[in-house]
Amino acid sequence: MTSKRVVVCSWSDGQGTIAVGSEEALSLGRKVAGALGSELHWLVLGPQPEGLLETAGRFGVAGVDRIENAALEAFAQDAYVEALAQYCNQESPALVLFSQAPDTRLVAPRLAGRLGAGVVMNVVDVTAGDDGGLEATASAYGGDTRMVYELSGAPAYVVALNTTALLAEPAEAGPTSPKCRTVAVDLSGTQERIRVIERPRAEGPRLEEADIIVSGGRGLGSPENYKLIEQLAEAVGGLAGASRPIVDEGWVDSSQQVGLTGKITRPALYLAAGISGASQHMAGCSAAKTIVAINRDPDASIFRYCRYGLVGDCLEILPELIRAAKQ
Ligand SMILES: Cc1cc2nc3c(=O)[nH]c(=O)nc-3n(C[C@H](O)[C@H](O)[C@H](O)COP(=O)(O)OP(=O)(O)OC[C@H]3O[C@@H](n4cnc5c(N)ncnc54)[C@H](O)[C@@H]3O)c2cc1C
Repeated sequence: MTSKRVVVCSWSDGQGTIAVGSEEALSLGRKVAGALGSELHWLVLGPQPEGLLETAGRFGVAGVDRIENAALEAFAQDAYVEALAQYCNQESPALVLFSQAPDTRLVAPRLAGRLGAGVVMNVVDVTAGDDGGLEATASAYGGDTRMVYELSGAPAYVVALNTTALLAEPAEAGPTSPKCRTVAVDLSGTQERIRVIERPRAEGPRLEEADIIVSGGRGLGSPENYKLIEQLAEAVGGLAGASRPIVDEGWVDSSQQVGLTGKITRPALYLAAGISGASQHMAGCSAAKTIVAINRDPDASIFRYCRYGLVGDCLEILPELIRAAKQ
């Protein structure tokens, strides 16, 4: 591998819009390319999403590379890996960055295998090390701790980013005018061996994008009391979330679960009622600007994370908050 190009790779979300996490990945990609003294490219597989070039310009991308092929119209693991491997063999990037989503979890390690590249998943930051090489920081043990890896010695690296831990930061120098080109690949010999037969439901407003979230946990006591969470969320113009036990108990849909195995959120305000503050829950909300907690146990862990804490019974406090919010 000769070039030191940094490539952020993404593909259509099926809605014609830019895939969630792309802007955060581009922001980090630009920082790393700057540290390496190289260019940032954005490789987009499949149909062209709306606003591609404008977004690329805002995030300081030097070149947009597109691969369009009938086999890439919708996510198909073998075709995507093959297309990416052919692209990397032509362009020899030093670093390929993905926003870590269910599809990219399937693709990134296989691409690395095909290229003889190093691969790191769950990455929350990439920085230049003292010797000019790169260091990747990844979350470990369900977000409880972090690992730092030195990336040196492999011809290239494939890194999957936990983009909810990153900020989307447009280029300070102002927008660029990236060149866009189409890269040809031959996918005629590719056969899919795994087919996606069910995808997560993605209708309605998304917790990951909500500005205000009101979440309830086991401390609500019974499924009927969850309506207090919904009422308060509605009254303050937010969305209702939940801790895992009440999802597991079937009180609310799994799409509302916040945490390590649920949604990773970053609202301005996160109000947690009857939630203990276990690390697996906090992995999904600790990036909130302000956390407010209601818990009757003054020693509950959630009070270590929150800016405002109310010690008391959430079944008494929530109706008061609903009343106040409606006034
Ligand atoms: C691999 C793994 C992944 C996980 N992923 C997730 C995840 O994504 N999301 C998640 O949430 N959890 C997850 N968990 C579970 C997590 O460890 C906790 O068990 C869970 O978050 C606890 O939920 P809770 O706070 O609602 O319940 P509890 O731990 O039972 O806490 C209830 C809290 O409510 C308080 N309380 C009780 N009654 C009242 C009242 N009337 N008024 C006010 N406060 C009251 C109690 O003091 C207590 O602090 C995961 C666990 C594992 C092992």
